[in-house]
Amino acid sequence: MSGSASNLRERKPNGAANGAAANGASTNGNGNADSTVAVNMPTIYGQAMDKKLDTHESYEFGGPAGVTAMMIGFPLMMYYLWICLWYYDGAMVHPTSVDDIVPFLQRMWAHCLDGAYPTAFAWGTYLGLGAIQLFFAWVMPGVYQNGLPVPSLGYKTLVYKCNALYSWYATLVLAGVLHYTGIYRLPWIIENYGSIMTVAIASGVTVSAVIDILARTCHYGGAPLRMSGVAVYDHFMGVSLNPRLGPVDLKMFAEVRVPWVLLFLISLSGVVKQYETLGYVTYNMCHMLLATGLYMNACAKGEQMIPQTWDMFHEKFGWMLIFWNMAGVPFTYCYPTIYMTRSDPATYEFPLWGNVLMLVTLLTSYYIFDTSMSQKSAFKMQQQGEYKPRKAFPQLPWAAVTNPKFIQTKHGNKLLIDGWWQYARKVNYTADFIQAFTWSATAGFNTPITMFYSVFFFAVLTHRCGRDFEKCARKYGDDWVEYCKIVKWRFIPGIY
Ligand code: NDP
Repeated sequence: MSGSASNLRERKPNGAANGAAANGASTNGNGNADSTVAVNMPTIYGQAMDKKLDTHESYEFGGPAGVTAMMIGFPLMMYYLWICLWYYDGAMVHPTSVDDIVPFLQRMWAHCLDGAYPTAFAWGTYLGLGAIQLFFAWVMPGVYQNGLPVPSLGYKTLVYKCNALYSWYATLVLAGVLHYTGIYRLPWIIENYGSIMTVAIASGVTVSAVIDILARTCHYGGAPLRMSGVAVYDHFMGVSLNPRLGPVDLKMFAEVRVPWVLLFLISLSGVVKQYETLGYVTYNMCHMLLATGLYMNACAKGEQMIPQTWDMFHEKFGWMLIFWNMAGVPFTYCYPTIYMTRSDPATYEFPLWGNVLMLVTLLTSYYIFDTSMSQKSAFKMQQQGEYKPRKAFPQLPWAAVTNPKFIQTKHGNKLLIDGWWQYARKVNYTADFIQAFTWSATAGFNTPITMFYSVFFFAVLTHRCGRDFEKCARKYGDDWVEYCKIVKWRFIPGIY
């Protein structure tokens, strides 16, 4: 359970900053970070802002009606898109007339029974993978990282066990052994995609209900936070912040070990399936394998930086994070792979120059994504006196900025205005989106379904950017306005 003494570390008060704020003096001004300076507690002003942020003030995501629509609509959408892709070659099927509505629904239901029934094999696959990942998370060696000071815990930090890297390598070896011995052949994942998706949806809904009940009744994961009082809305946003199982932080586990491992395994399954069907593997299929592999590897090699993100220190563990990570990410971001395993390569393959362009675009955007995320996390860790560079593969130049420029805020935190962060306030989103676009493009442009990830991700990132900037504006006040003047652009320097 969260909050146990062994998992918490107390912060030392930031005397200088507190004193300045208490005297009414502004601590604003630019400067250079010293890698050994600890950031410690926010100022008194900052603590008041943090308290405000931890109180429910307004609804997000369209309020109770909006989140109810999402909780019903997302699973239905996943079934619909799967049916179109699996049974109709990506055509967006619909009733042909009013009279056809009932027969149409009957056809949809028949497809679900035929291809998405939650078989024992599907349960074994999904829960087996989850159990293996949980076992690895529990026992594998790794590094320990202190998270950011959590306002609702009196600015104590939680300790995160970061062992995703060895777990990831072990998963790769295990997947290879199981495939080559015939105990679990990789193509079986794709062949049972619909059934495993149903199990994932059921598991996501069940886990979010269990976590919700435990958080409300026994404060599992900490005291309920930012509660609106409307049960359905609080269920979607989450009740508590940091549920843990032994040494495993469930939120970090759900964000890294479930979605990206499974998404990579679906890509690998697609590669093997295509090889066994065609006798060769297309570049497009390899692109999906490389892209999902790079993403998973980035999560594993930079896992110690994830506690510095707002998902960890601000977002609660509710339906939104649980369902989307357990079911949404792995079973929707893989649509190009599903399409390619079932379609003639002539419908999506590119000429050589197209493949080269795809590869160069993916690698360039990955580089910016990886190093920008790493620069900001390293900066935050430097302020906490927590920065310990890790030698995980691949080591990239400019992963941290030496003596970076920053803005000192009245809150006590510093805002980086150097490295990639001097060019745009969400440069990581731009790079991440370009990666997503190349994933979608691998399957060509025959059906809108394979473009799902980039269209959905565009909506997620623009909405998430709005939520984050609103949160920062409330937290930093005038300093945020100053920061936005210095770093003018949101996504693309000179354009937007
Ligand atoms: P982060 O936590 O990394 O960044 C936002 C926070 O960083 C802000 O709330 C603020 O927190 C702090 N911050 C903002 N600007 C600065 C600055 N200049 N200097 C110092 N601190 C700053 O979360 P992101 O939303 O950026 O997401 C992380 C990654 O996850 C992104 O690359 C995103 O694309 C990816 N992602 C992927 C998804 C997927 O489905 N593939 C879904 C969602 C995200 P503070 O209060 O500490 O100042």
